[in-house]
Amino acid sequence: MIKRRKTRTIKAGRILIGSSAPIVIQSMTKVPTVDIARCVRQINQLVGAGCRLVRIAVPTRADTAAFAKIVQKVSVPLIADIHFSAERAIEAIEAGAAKIRLNPGNIKNRENIIRIIDAAKMHKTAVRIGVNEASIRDLKMQDVPPQKRTALMLKEIKKYVRLFENRGFTQLVLSAKSSDCLRTIEINRLISKTFDYPIHLGLTHAGLPEDAQIPSAIAMGTLLSEGIGDTIRVSAAGDPVIETNMSKEILTALGLYERQAPELIVCPTCARAEIDVVRLARRVKKILVGIDKPLRIAVMGCIVNGPGEAADADLAVCAAKNKAFIYKSGKKIAVVAENKIIPALLKELQKL
Ligand code: SF4
Repeated sequence: MIKRRKTRTIKAGRILIGSSAPIVIQSMTKVPTVDIARCVRQINQLVGAGCRLVRIAVPTRADTAAFAKIVQKVSVPLIADIHFSAERAIEAIEAGAAKIRLNPGNIKNRENIIRIIDAAKMHKTAVRIGVNEASIRDLKMQDVPPQKRTALMLKEIKKYVRLFENRGFTQLVLSAKSSDCLRTIEINRLISKTFDYPIHLGLTHAGLPEDAQIPSAIAMGTLLSEGIGDTIRVSAAGDPVIETNMSKEILTALGLYERQAPELIVCPTCARAEIDVVRLARRVKKILVGIDKPLRIAVMGCIVNGPGEAADADLAVCAAKNKAFIYKSGKKIAVVAENKIIPALLKELQKL
């Protein structure tokens, strides 16, 4: 079992972030914020997928005006994603943001930062200080060798945190993102040793979902396994529901998220397979859609590992020549012809 790093607990609306609370999955909307109906629809999809916080970009005045209306229409606390503009930050806070994300790389004026801090304090809005390696480069740091960039990112965070703390504000979440897996791990380890604020984990600009999933799982999985990370977002181009599902998979694999849907175990297949395992597994996956119980279902191509996996599964199919053995909680309950496997599974699933 993973021991979480001890942190302060902060509140984003009703959601607690920190080691005393479960790790919070979040994602971002990817439709124009001013298109309120689409934005609300996407937020609801994200909530349905498991997000407990949703972030929205508010680059213009029209966006913060839309944000104020969206806050009223959804049940989930919202985070306003701010770059460059203190005005947008203050408007979003006044509009009801549970949390705002500030980028130290592009909001640098001290007076402006203090105005934001005072507004956040007054409205009890949490703040994520989110440094990004790309923003560090925007500060003409492109000549800095990659191995020194983590030190620079930490320095940026320290400066910002000091400003907030000097103003008596501690409702902070910290993050530092890079598109590089190893630097993401390194900077977050440094943050965790330097501060006791909750940490938001993510690998930025990770790519298309199929390219983003392994680097994201390695970066976040490594940190989470060390107890580092209190809220996570997988970043991938495309549907944010896919990001959310990837976040859930990472947390579930580490035992940090309670599975609410069936888990399908499938043998990788080899020359011993007595059946088209992949085709059968795809058919089984289809009949599991919509089941909201954390069942473990196994599809095995032969008897080499079949009974072993079946022992740990609620339901298992173990193929043999032209037939299959059905196991329930490790006990063989039926032998069926190949074309009767799906009906037999459906019948048993209804009883579970
Ligand atoms: S269960 Fe059988 S078919 Fe599947 S990988 Fe193992 S040995 Fe091969």
